[in-house]
Amino acid sequence: MLRETIGYNRQFDFEFPLLEVADDLDLANFRGVARLTHTAQGVYLHGQFSGERQSECVRCLTEINQRIKSKLEQLYEFPPNPLAEFAVEESGFLDLAPVLREDLWLAMPQYPLCRPDCRGLCPNCGQNWNDGPCNCANEDINPRLEVLKKLLDN
Ligand SMILES: [Zn+2]
Ligand SMILES: [Zn+2]
Repeated sequence: MLRETIGYNRQFDFEFPLLEVADDLDLANFRGVARLTHTAQGVYLHGQFSGERQSECVRCLTEINQRIKSKLEQLYEFPPNPLAEFAVEESGFLDLAPVLREDLWLAMPQYPLCRPDCRGLCPNCGQNWNDGPCNCANEDINPRLEVLKKLLDN
């Protein structure tokens, strides 16, 4: 690409069933499009990526697949400048992973939920309230009702 004229651009499509973006980030069904443009400063990346990450709901601990999306715009300088944070290597290699990893981590919800209105687990018996109510609430009410009954009897 760097041998082409300024303004030359090319699109790269990505599709991986499983992709290790970094040591701490694996994504399934990774898909993306990267458009690279040769500019006077180097190579300009304009990309859109998405993938699924296995995670668990913070309320009910059910395993969920989080769909994460990333939109990237980044200039990779060329020739590589020692002060540039991102540059195309002398060999012409452009490593997308560091920028992608950072952006995907930022895009990830900090408290993932299986669904927005997840009811969570009963702190008493551990029943998943999404599957229905447990008996704990009833047991709580019964002693109070008995006191009330006694008062009424008197
Ligand atoms: Zn949940
Ligand atoms: Zn319960």
